[in-house]
Amino acid sequence: MDYISTRGGAPALDFEGATLAGLASDGGLYLPRHWPRFSEGEIAAMAGLPYAELATRVMLPFVEGSLTEEELRALCQQAYGRFSHDAVTPLVQLDEQQWLLELFHGPTLAFKDVALQLLGLLFETFLSRRKSNLTIIGATSGDTGSAAIDAVAGREGVDIFMLHPRGRVSEVQRRQMTTVRAPNVHNIAIEGSFDDAQAMVKRMFGDQGMTSRFNIGAVNSINWARLMAQVVYYFAAALQLGAPHRQVAFSVPTGNFGDVFAGYVSAQMGLPVAQLIVATNVNDILHRALSQGDYSTGIVTPTATPSMDIQISSNFERLLFDAGGRDGKALAEQMRGFEASKAMQLTNTQREGAAGLFTSARADGEEVLQALRWAYDHAGEMIDPHTAVGLHAARTSEIDRAIPVVTLATAHPAKFPEAVERATGIRPALPSRVGDLFAREEAYTELPGEYEAVRDFVSQHASPAA
Ligand SMILES: *Cc1c(COP(=O)(O)O)cnc(C)c1O
Repeated sequence: MDYISTRGGAPALDFEGATLAGLASDGGLYLPRHWPRFSEGEIAAMAGLPYAELATRVMLPFVEGSLTEEELRALCQQAYGRFSHDAVTPLVQLDEQQWLLELFHGPTLAFKDVALQLLGLLFETFLSRRKSNLTIIGATSGDTGSAAIDAVAGREGVDIFMLHPRGRVSEVQRRQMTTVRAPNVHNIAIEGSFDDAQAMVKRMFGDQGMTSRFNIGAVNSINWARLMAQVVYYFAAALQLGAPHRQVAFSVPTGNFGDVFAGYVSAQMGLPVAQLIVATNVNDILHRALSQGDYSTGIVTPTATPSMDIQISSNFERLLFDAGGRDGKALAEQMRGFEASKAMQLTNTQREGAAGLFTSARADGEEVLQALRWAYDHAGEMIDPHTAVGLHAARTSEIDRAIPVVTLATAHPAKFPEAVERATGIRPALPSRVGDLFAREEAYTELPGEYEAVRDFVSQHASPAA
């Protein structure tokens, strides 16, 4: 399978190349040249498969040329063997129409484990083939950092440097990063905000002195392999609810548009998806874009759902490209305009292309608490506030009663205990498998909020490209 850039100006790469590159050299994002499509019979034959086997079948067309079926199967078995639930992503019923897809049974209690556990193994496999090293640089406000660190700790050929704003991530999130002790893991607490940390990371990607010595890589959801791994659980849920013979809708708590874009991909592959509900908090740029065509950034308002507090949704570019007729040159122009003015209007083709599948909704703080309380009172389920944004959108949507609506449960409630306690009066306990988190010793380096300090630290500790 060939991968092409959304901006039309970078060379096509195979799966291995696209996975290691992350961002395309023209600033665009990689997508497969065409969507593989399963017949109804092929989808029906996937019902009842164990998760790792389903993952192998769904992802095989995307890795063609880079991994054999046996290699892919072995990686899936290893990645999903680390989940605490045999079903990996179990489905829970809330009422006649509403369901939850629990994506938080991985090592760091958020859905990002589903993709990153596999990505860590893919990096190791490809780097050992090439006999080269990768230096991953990232900034995190919480969930991505811990999931990425867990996924690459101890892996050959990879060093990870994760920046977090000192004193501004929750204690659980910080400890999930800083108690992982492996020689290739480097936690850096920097003075400043998440945006300051993110700006340093961006600067390092463009720093010739660094890129000439190190193979600098990314683990955020601009990496295609992450989205590919997330397509699998849309199949898992829909098959359990009667696909391919019955339509299913999904409500997705959305930030960077990665998770919900994976749902879009599942529909292109033939899964009968009735609707994808893009659920946002009050930082509602995506809701405005999908309902009015207005994609313009504002100031981020901090909420109880920090993983969705965004101004710019990187993966939205993938939808604009695919739904807008795959015209890379035109999109590159549109994105240049957006980068200059921080605002753009969707074209009619883009709006119509998205309208077939997507709807959107936004939840404010009170609506989040109400949804959290409803899940607990009505179904006895404790959910996290991000999931509650999705559930609010699912319950207020006007989908035909005969179609099941699956809300993606993106984090374990114990990751965000304050909001859960406010709504239900009960403080959720951390699952026993991470129970000694507060007893383990932490290790991190504190650095001032200066690019030079971070750059020097990375060059002293990273391994050169080859
Ligand atoms: C990352 C994250 C999201 C947002 O997912 P995107 O793929 O960025 O849209 C939602 N909920 C939680 C708990 C997350 O960690």
